[in-house]
Amino acid sequence: FEQSKLLDQLPTQFFATLVEKVGAQIKAGVDVINLGQGNPDQPTPEYIVKSTQKWVADPKTHKYSPFQGLPSFKRAAANFYQEKYGVQLDPAQEVCILGGSKIGLVELPWALMNPGDLMLLPDPGYPDYWSGAALGEVKFETVPLTAEHDFLPDLESIPEATAQKAKFFYLNYPNNPTGAVATKEFYTELVAWAKKYHVGIISDFAYGALGFDEADPVSFMEVPGAKEVGIEFYTYSKTFNMAGWRLGFAVGNADIIKALNLIQDHLFVSVFPALQKAAEDALNDPQRDLEIKKLNQLYKSRRDAFINAAAKIGWTTKAPQGTFYAWMPVPDGYTSESFADKLLYDAGVAVAPGNGFGKYGEGYVRVGLLIDPDRLEEAVNRIDQLHLFN
Ligand code: PLP
Repeated sequence: FEQSKLLDQLPTQFFATLVEKVGAQIKAGVDVINLGQGNPDQPTPEYIVKSTQKWVADPKTHKYSPFQGLPSFKRAAANFYQEKYGVQLDPAQEVCILGGSKIGLVELPWALMNPGDLMLLPDPGYPDYWSGAALGEVKFETVPLTAEHDFLPDLESIPEATAQKAKFFYLNYPNNPTGAVATKEFYTELVAWAKKYHVGIISDFAYGALGFDEADPVSFMEVPGAKEVGIEFYTYSKTFNMAGWRLGFAVGNADIIKALNLIQDHLFVSVFPALQKAAEDALNDPQRDLEIKKLNQLYKSRRDAFINAAAKIGWTTKAPQGTFYAWMPVPDGYTSESFADKLLYDAGVAVAPGNGFGKYGEGYVRVGLLIDPDRLEEAVNRIDQLHLFN
C-alpha cells in the first residue's frame, strides 16, 4: 500500500532525526546529556495520580464518554479560567475537551478553513503547526519572531494584503522555542489588529503555567474582546507533567469551538471518562497551585544554573522568561545544524538545531532544561572544552 498524496505533503518530523542521532550515540556507548527534547522529566503530582486511580476503579467511567466530553470537566475548565484569568466562559459552548492540545492545533485548519485559504504561523514556531496546514490543505505564510522584537511578532510589518487574506494566526506564548512571554499590551494590540483584518487568533498556551517572574504568564483570553476573535489551547502536558496522558482543552470563541467539537465527534468521541474526572480534580484541588509553584521554582533553578554557567564560558543570551527552554545563539562559523552536530559528536551534548523551528531559527539551538542543575553544568563544562566562545 502507498500512503495518500495528502500524507506526502506532511513535513518530516525533525525530532525523529534528532532522536535517531542521539540513539545511535547512546548505542555506541556515549554518555549523552540529552537537552534536545521537551518531555517533562518530573512525575505527575501524586494527588492527580490518586484521583485517577479512584476514577479508573469506578465502572461508571468505563463506557464511552458523551460526545464532546463530560459537562463537569467543561465546567471545571471554565471555572479555572474564571478564577485564574478573570474570563467568563459558557462551558457548553466555549470549551472543547481534547486528548492533548496537539490534536486540536493540527485539526483546526481542517475544521475551519478551505483548501487554499491562508494562515499565519510564527517563525520560529512549533513544527506541528505546519502539519496542520498540510492536512487542512491550506497555505501559510510566516511571521518572523526576532530578538530585536523580544520574539513577539511585529504586527505593523505584516503586509496589508497578507493580513486581509489570512483567516487564522497561530501564536504561542510562553514561547517554544525562544522562552519569550507575551505582554498584555501586545495582546491588546493583537485583538485590535485581529478585529481590523478579521483574522482568527489561535493562542497556544501549552506553557501557560511556566513563567519565572512574579506575575503568571498572561493568557490571551484575559484581554477584552479576545473571545470575539479567537481561542486558546490549554494542556496538562507541561503544567502537570502529564505529557503521556494526552489531556487538554480549548476555550474561547463559540464558532471555532463548535467546529472543533464537531470534528472531535467524528474522529474521537472524547477522552476516557476516568481521565476527564481526574482532569477535573486536577483543576479543582487546592493542591493545584502549590504543585505549579514547586515546578516553576525547579525550572527557574535549572534556568539560572544553565544561563549562569553558559555566561561564564562566554555563551550569552537573554534569560528565558518562561517554558523550560533556552534559545542559545550559535557561534561564528557554524550553522544551527553543524553546531548541534558538533555538540553531540564532540561533547556528547544533544540540543535541537534552531532551523528545525523555521527559517528564523537559523543561528540558534534550543536547549531543553529538563535535567538536574549539576548535569546542566556538566553539559556546559563539556562544551567549554571545545573552546568555541571567547
Ligand atoms: N504546543 C507547543 C508549543 C508545544 O511545545 C507542545 C508540545 O511540546 C504542544 C503544543 C503539544 O502539547 P500536547 O502534549 O498538549 O499535545
